[in-house]
Formats: sequence, C-alpha cells, structure tokens
Amino acid sequence: MPTGDSRRLQPEKPALIDPFGRTVRDLRISVTDRCNFRCTYCMPEEGMKWLPRQEVLSYEEIRRVAKVCVDRFGVDGIRLTGGEPTVRAHLPVLISRLAELKVPDDADSPRAGKPIDLALTTNGATLALIADDLRRAGLARINVSLDTLDQEKFRTMTRRDDLHRVLEGIDAAIAAGFDPVKVNAVVQRGVNDDEIVALAAFGREKRVEVRFIEFMPLDAQGHWLNEAVVGQDEIVSTIAAVYPLEQLPARGAAPADRWRYLDGKGTVGVIPTVTKPFCGDCDRVRLTADGQFRTCLFATDEFDVRGMLRSGATDDELEALLRRAVGTKWAGHRIGDVAFVRPRRSMSQIGG
Ligand code: SAM
Ligand code: SF4
Repeated sequence: MPTGDSRRLQPEKPALIDPFGRTVRDLRISVTDRCNFRCTYCMPEEGMKWLPRQEVLSYEEIRRVAKVCVDRFGVDGIRLTGGEPTVRAHLPVLISRLAELKVPDDADSPRAGKPIDLALTTNGATLALIADDLRRAGLARINVSLDTLDQEKFRTMTRRDDLHRVLEGIDAAIAAGFDPVKVNAVVQRGVNDDEIVALAAFGREKRVEVRFIEFMPLDAQGHWLNEAVVGQDEIVSTIAAVYPLEQLPARGAAPADRWRYLDGKGTVGVIPTVTKPFCGDCDRVRLTADGQFRTCLFATDEFDVRGMLRSGATDDELEALLRRAVGTKWAGHRIGDVAFVRPRRSMSQIGG
C-alpha cells in the first residue's frame, strides 16, 4: 500500500465516521482568533486575550492538516473562519494552497475527483479591497455577516462605524463572481429582531441568501440568555407575513433550513441551532487557530494537532489522532438542558 502524503482513500481506510454513524465531510478552519470588530454577541470591547503568534498554526501547518483530511478521509468542504480571517496577513496565499486540494476519485462524495468546496466567512469590512484577490486565489463561496442595516445600531452591535464598508464589501463580493454570496444575520431579541423583514428585503433586492442565525451561548462575556434567542418559527412567520414562503426540501448536512419566496425572488435560510438542533445530520469538525481539533462548536474536549505537527508526527500519526478525536464526537449539544456545559472557549476563539 502506498504511504506518505499522496496516499488516497483506501477501502480499508474508510471515511471518517463518528460513533453515531455520521460521516465527517466538512472542516472549519479558524485562521486567527483576532478581529477588527467587537460584536456584542461575540466578544467584549476590551480584554480579549489574543493567542501569541507562535501558537497560531502557520499556513503550511494548516495545509498539511487539510490535506490529510481531504486525501485520507474524503473531506470535501473547507470553510475558513475566525476571529476575522481577513485580518490575517496574506490570506490569498493560504487560499491558493487549499484550492489545489482535490477530493480523491474514490471518495464517497458528490465532489469526488473535483476540487474541494472552499468557502470563507467574514465580517466583510475589508472585502471591497480584497474580494478580487480572494477570488483569483481560488475561493469559491463567501458568507458575509450583517446583522443590521441601521448605521447607529451597527455601531452599537459591532462597536465599529463600518456599515458602509460591509455593504460595499457585499457588492464587491457579488461583482467578483462569488457564487453564492450569503449574508449571515444573528438575531437577538430586543436588539435587531425588528429588522428581520428589512434584512430579508435586502437579500431579495441583492439576490443573496440571508441566513438568520439563532443566538448561541458562545459569547465570550457569558451574557447569553435563552430569552434573547429569537427562534426559527418566529423568524420564518415574521418574514412570511410580508413575503410568502415555501419550505425547500430537507437540508441534509447543511446547517440552514431554507425557504423560497413564492414570488421567485430567491431564498432565505435559518440556522436553528438552539430551537431545532441539527446535530443528527452534523458532518463537521473544526481546527482552531492554535491547532486544536474539535468535533463540535460546543465540545468540551480538544485534541492537540499542533503539538503533534511540531513534534515531527507522520501523516499516519495525524490520521490516527483525528480518527480518535472523531471517535469521541457526541450525539449533540445540550443547549437548554440542565446538563449543558458551556465550552471553555468562545465563538471567536473556536472559529464560528
Ligand atoms: N468574523 C467573521 C464573521 O463575523 O463573519 C467570522 C467569524 S464569526 C465567529 C462566524 C459567525 O458566527 C458570524 O456569522 C457571527 O455572526 C456568528 N456568531 C458569533 N457569535 C455568535 C453567537 N453568540 N451566536 C450565534 N452566532 C454567532
Ligand atoms: Fe469579529 Fe466575527 Fe466575532 Fe464579530 S462575530 S466580533 S466580526 S469574530
């Protein structure tokens, strides 16, 4: 049997399957824990402790882990996130290295033999400047976060006066040819729930899918309250009262439930992590900026990939660590349950 980096998926080395029979297909990679915004639902204005540079994985290290996941497990989708991924220097260099990865011909994936599905989640603040570079580097899809269209509220929610930049960034992403461009909006009761229809209208006008995200207990400050969550049913009925909707077929492993506007003006999604957890279909694992492997946003355990990379481990050893980690993946998070334990790290430290 061939060994080393180039080894492809072998029948006796099946895809990465967790104890509940779910196949891992999607890898979220956080490239930095730093950010140029301070969204109130994510981090405090001051006091975040950033990772020391030497603890952050280099682009070479990230690519190596990604390549093991693609070549050996048939992972077919990678999303870069953070913190804010665009604040890391030379991001297009990493993108071009990852865009070279190809899903093995014999992988059990609709993308077998094709390049991986490479995506980015960003706050959009600098997209107008870099969208073309990211596209040229081989990035295919982009999600931009935008929680309000009101300048004053934007300033309160992000602690930055950058609404115009984000709007320009969305236009630049559309012009650069990303397909699709999606907009992520976290909805919080009493903060921006009065803008659900306005955000939906924005998506219809721009022909981008807005995906409303339920507020999750992952803010660094620990201020999350169940009462602040606006659930999927309420979000959908609020939109449907103005723009009639029809639900699209089941989401599969994708986190969003989706609807189409009956007048043909596109689609809208909701990520109902809290009120309708989609853990049963989860196909995702995560690599933090400091090289810790996690099987869930809400996992309380991490596996030290960085330590292994830096102590000269072989790809076989890395593979074994990742398989062991996935062997601990639990059935689902338990938000709302008395047994729920908040993870030690917050959303921006894990990679949302
Ligand atoms: N900085 C980038 C951005 O904001 O798009 C990428 C990282 S951010 C952590 C990824 C996504 O997580 C964003 O869409 C953000 O709105 C969302 N997010 C952050 N904190 C959240 C929370 N407590 N609940 C739900 N979504 C959250
Ligand atoms: Fe930064 Fe994204 Fe967190 Fe906002 S949600 S503070 S943009 S990491």
